[in-house]
Amino acid sequence: MKCKRCRRAEAAIELPSHHSAFCPDCFFVFFRRQVTEGIRKLRLLSPEDRTLVCVSGGKDSLVLWDVLIDEGYETEGLYIDLGIDGYSDRSKEKVLAYAASRGKTPIVVELAKEGIPIPEAAHCARMQECSICGTVKRYFFNRVAAEGKFTVVATGHNLDDETARLLGNLLHWQRDHLARQHPLLPEEAGGLVRKVKPLWRVSEVETAAYGFLKGIDYVTEECPMSEDATSLVYKEALSRIEDRMPGTRIVFYQGFLDPSNPLRKRAEAQEPAGDAPRATEADAEEGVGTPRACASCGAPTYTETCSFCRLKERVRKARSQRAARSSR
Ligand code: SF4
Ligand code: ZN
Repeated sequence: MKCKRCRRAEAAIELPSHHSAFCPDCFFVFFRRQVTEGIRKLRLLSPEDRTLVCVSGGKDSLVLWDVLIDEGYETEGLYIDLGIDGYSDRSKEKVLAYAASRGKTPIVVELAKEGIPIPEAAHCARMQECSICGTVKRYFFNRVAAEGKFTVVATGHNLDDETARLLGNLLHWQRDHLARQHPLLPEEAGGLVRKVKPLWRVSEVETAAYGFLKGIDYVTEECPMSEDATSLVYKEALSRIEDRMPGTRIVFYQGFLDPSNPLRKRAEAQEPAGDAPRATEADAEEGVGTPRACASCGAPTYTETCSFCRLKERVRKARSQRAARSSR
């Protein structure tokens, strides 16, 4: 099959949802247009921004960084070493190698050094790894961005991630989560940095194809803690629908973001102004209002101490109880 854009080269990728097929060079143009259009439509980034790109070593975040660098945005990468045996080292290697290939040195936060490596912390506190991981990552995204004077934090969530989350929120009628779901979470007084998801218009398959065709070496194994993630069930369901009815995912998500959608109207009614939700995802469990400084670490929070400090305290207590028991 010939590329439907240049009509000369052989197509390397077929995209039924766009009724199209592209050779590698035309696919790069198509993919970058999709991302830049997503940025433009929702005004996610401006040329003046200093962007902190959160990179995990997986395809989505490295592709995001690649596109933003190529589009001329000022970016730095942040890698959070979760302290997961083997997997974290392999992921870090990919991040460092990619960064070096673009003349960059990423900022690295090692959770083992911070006293909260994910597997051990989850074991001590008897909590799910992913729940600890989410709190800890959000905390460092914001802290590193605020300390480094970044204006925005960008993550590599793609269309599959966003629609899986939307389906989960709808199936459980998580009204508060629905009100906060958006590719743009604006900056807030008190030091909450703006968060954006510039890959919201591109699918996982398109992102993987872009990474592969561009020769980006990313970690292909899944995080070993992800096996039970319910989001995988929603992704699978949506993939079956997409296979039968190409284009459903983007229609589903764009329809949700449409300001005339009653669900979005409700979200905006809670906002003082603007076209994006007011509170951040990190505050789902904490409530809304005006953030204040955490009594322990000074990070913005809606409660006396922030969720990260509360979590650290819980892990510290559990650790000392275990140590006391084993010394008896
Ligand atoms: Fe963190 Fe869970 Fe994702 Fe692994 S699967 S990176 S533990 S949120
Ligand atoms: Zn704190």
